[in-house]
Amino acid sequence: MNSLIIRRKLAEHIISRLKFPQRTLCTDAAPKVSSSHSVQSSNDHVGQQSFRNEVHPYDIAIVGGGMVGMALACSLARMPLTKHLKVAIIDSNPALSKGLGIKKEDPPDPRVSTVTPATISLFKDIGAWKYVEQHRHAYFDQMQVWDYTGLGYTKYNARDVHKDTLGCVVENKVLHNSLLSCIQDTDFQKTIYPSRLSSMTLQPRNLSMGVDSTSSGLNERGNLAKLDLSDGNSLYAKLVVGSDGSKSRVRELAGFKTTGWNYSQNAIICTVEHSVENRCAWQRFLPAGPIALLPIGDNFSNIVWTMNPKEATDRKSLAEDDFVKDVNYALDYGFGPHPKSSTLGSGGIFSWFKTDVNLSPDECFRVPPKVVKLASERMVFPLSLMHANDYASKHVVLIGDAAHTVHPLAGQGVNLGFGDAFALSRIISEGIAVGTDIAEVLLLKKYEAERKSANVTMMAILDGFQKAYSVDFGPLNILRAAAFNGAQYIPPLKRSIISYASGDQRFPIFS
Ligand SMILES: Cc1cc2nc3c(=O)[nH]c(=O)nc-3n(C[C@H](O)[C@H](O)[C@H](O)COP(=O)(O)OP(=O)(O)OC[C@H]3O[C@@H](n4cnc5c(N)ncnc54)[C@H](O)[C@@H]3O)c2cc1C
Repeated sequence: MNSLIIRRKLAEHIISRLKFPQRTLCTDAAPKVSSSHSVQSSNDHVGQQSFRNEVHPYDIAIVGGGMVGMALACSLARMPLTKHLKVAIIDSNPALSKGLGIKKEDPPDPRVSTVTPATISLFKDIGAWKYVEQHRHAYFDQMQVWDYTGLGYTKYNARDVHKDTLGCVVENKVLHNSLLSCIQDTDFQKTIYPSRLSSMTLQPRNLSMGVDSTSSGLNERGNLAKLDLSDGNSLYAKLVVGSDGSKSRVRELAGFKTTGWNYSQNAIICTVEHSVENRCAWQRFLPAGPIALLPIGDNFSNIVWTMNPKEATDRKSLAEDDFVKDVNYALDYGFGPHPKSSTLGSGGIFSWFKTDVNLSPDECFRVPPKVVKLASERMVFPLSLMHANDYASKHVVLIGDAAHTVHPLAGQGVNLGFGDAFALSRIISEGIAVGTDIAEVLLLKKYEAERKSANVTMMAILDGFQKAYSVDFGPLNILRAAAFNGAQYIPPLKRSIISYASGDQRFPIFS
């Protein structure tokens, strides 16, 4: 009996054991490539309604090809020990199989992310940042944070920590597209399934007949995860990565419990236009939540404005001119006075802050540039905090919003997710280097331990901020102002805050 017949017999055996519908049987080794769907490079495949790959499981199935899922794929594609892995990416987003075709002259998309210097450097390491730089993006080296009471403000400058930049604001579609372009540069063998995960079960690994040990040289013992998709396709994988966002189906199917709460706040986001270029990131805390004005390049800025759900609904449908008036009011004198740089520390309750610090013009309070026009639709997102109690079990691991969602007030959500993606790819690579099964729970728990501490610390800080700035109460207002002034006038504290917000792993004053 030649090997082909053996393979076919075993395939038939597997199919009959699993009671798969006969119409889906296909025993070819390679996943079928659809020319109609496969619009990317020749190393891309689009998963079809055949079960060709059931008997040749993937090393990794990435469920959710958003920014974080694609960062994982890109990082795997770039590392010597992981670039040969067979990877399936499951996501119905057509951008994955058809590309986005972004044009620089298109108006900016209101969905943007502030990426930290740590993320920028990870993107540079994998070769994705050069694609970001081909599209609209805006570095900023200054940030001003203040609140409506007029009691205090903080000004952050990149040069306080000897950096060129505090971060960069990039449209989400640009980040996503850059990761896709970066993968196109490699020989990475990925198969895209333009579908959604419906169910997932663990299957015993006596399906081993078709296991393609050439892909990674991995330990072939153990179970496989079987993934059933909404279009009727199924596939097998040694490791399933849930990068399918805050309502993660992978998390639910794997039985990971979560902790969290809704904030009873919605964020309204949109793009606005100025008559001058904005080069600073601004954030003002208002009684109902913060409003941020983030530079996005070409006289455009992005607004992320948190408020109660009823206000958000009303403001979404407000006439454009009235909405612009509301935005200018919220960013300027609305709800309370401007803080006065000159009076801080001149004999008032905060005078002790200004011990030996001279205020440069750069550190004085400024009013943000006026918004002249609404330049995009307004979108509303409910806000919540969610943390998965576990990120990893045998065969399954969570990254990005599937593992944690945070309040957007400090623009950290996707940065934490990118941190997860890069940590997981590195730990998988380290596992391969010492011959460990990539689905082995001990290996995956290493990832969990590393990322949980980083994510939980950030979540606690953001949640504390959210709570501290949601209450309008005299003594608390004074405490908040003290915190602003402490951050403004105590240089080591200021440096610690900037470097932590820039993506340094630990909060230096706590360590
Ligand atoms: C208003 C607002 C402003 C924000 N601003 C910032 C910021 O400035 N900086 C920052 O760092 N973060 C920010 N965030 C957070 C950031 O947007 C998220 O952290 C980020 O989008 C998470 O990316 P992700 O890839 O993990 O998940 P998602 O972006 O949710 O992607 C999940 C993907 O999984 C796919 N999917 C879902 N279900 C399935 C399924 N069953 N099968 C297959 N595929 C599936 C989806 O199609 C999607 O492509 C902000 C969030 C909000 C709401």
